[in-house]
Amino acid sequence: MVRPAADEPERVAEAALRPRRLDEFVGQRVVRDQLSLVLQAALGRGRAPDHVLLSGPPGLGKTTLAMIIAAELGASLRITSGPAIQHAGDLAAVLSSLEEGEVLFLDEIHRLARPAEELLYVAMEDFRVDVVVGKGAGASAIPLTLPPFTVVGATTRAGLLPAPLRDRFGFTAHLDFYSDDELERVLVRSAGLLGVELDARAAGEIASRSRGTPRIANRLLRRVRDWAQVRGDGRLSLDAARAALEVYEVDDRGLDRLDRSVLDALCRRFGGGPVGLTTLAVAVGEEPETVETVAEPFLVREGLVGRTPRGRVALPPAWEHLGLTAPAPTGT
Ligand code: ADP
Repeated sequence: MVRPAADEPERVAEAALRPRRLDEFVGQRVVRDQLSLVLQAALGRGRAPDHVLLSGPPGLGKTTLAMIIAAELGASLRITSGPAIQHAGDLAAVLSSLEEGEVLFLDEIHRLARPAEELLYVAMEDFRVDVVVGKGAGASAIPLTLPPFTVVGATTRAGLLPAPLRDRFGFTAHLDFYSDDELERVLVRSAGLLGVELDARAAGEIASRSRGTPRIANRLLRRVRDWAQVRGDGRLSLDAARAALEVYEVDDRGLDRLDRSVLDALCRRFGGGPVGLTTLAVAVGEEPETVETVAEPFLVREGLVGRTPRGRVALPPAWEHLGLTAPAPTGT
């Protein structure tokens, strides 16, 4: 498979730039403050803190925060995800091997299968898991008591979590897109770690095209570094940033190829909508979930796309951005 291999160097590069402690984590002041209280109180009592649910679009720091939670608690971290757990038994195996105080990071928790989800409720609430021994009519469930542990769940779609699961989390935080100022701070920190010279204006330019997302800011920084190394003089100047972002087709609003193809399909193929998510996703050759969680939150936030009960619509700035004229309003 091409994807994992192609993603691997990106993952390694990303890991190197992760903040390790809460005070290195840029922005999200309210979440940081609340989380710091939860963690300090737990440390003071010598107990595992309440389970934590982190929600928000990809790349805003959910995995990083899970790692920070474990680090701040001096606990070890287990990482798994909803799609990686095929059967309830897989989750039972993970849970029954947890040690006291461990942090279990469950990424994409909204994608857990129903039986695993039900097992998780009980484990989170009563620190108990029923291990099924044997098969068919002879099978029996042996209850196993678990040591106290903390689940950190992450989801891009909090709305999809069933209420009983959501209620098991004592602390829920929603991560929001970052301001350009905050992204500049992320970039300056990352440039320091990468040992490259980043001009303040270049930092501003990259930040403003990073869709409010630290992962994208760091990725663009690495692409600008490549450009500066190969075609420039090694320094990350404003000109280098602009030239590199043009090569990588990131436009002046930070829209990338997927964002633009969603807008393009909405305006040119569907006359501005409304059009259903699935139809739109087919038109751009992507999974509906990718369009909904990766492209849409930013397009909606930027006022380019609207969500209506009848589907997605292109708003006037979308037409303008593509250099098209919006059709005159019809009806009343
Ligand atoms: P998510 O799990 O929400 O998809 P990650 O935690 O994997 O996002 O973050 C993606 C990248 O962005 C990481 O490499 C991390 O270095 C960086 N990052 C995210 N949030 C912050 C932040 N608040 N401060 C600094 N870097 C951040």
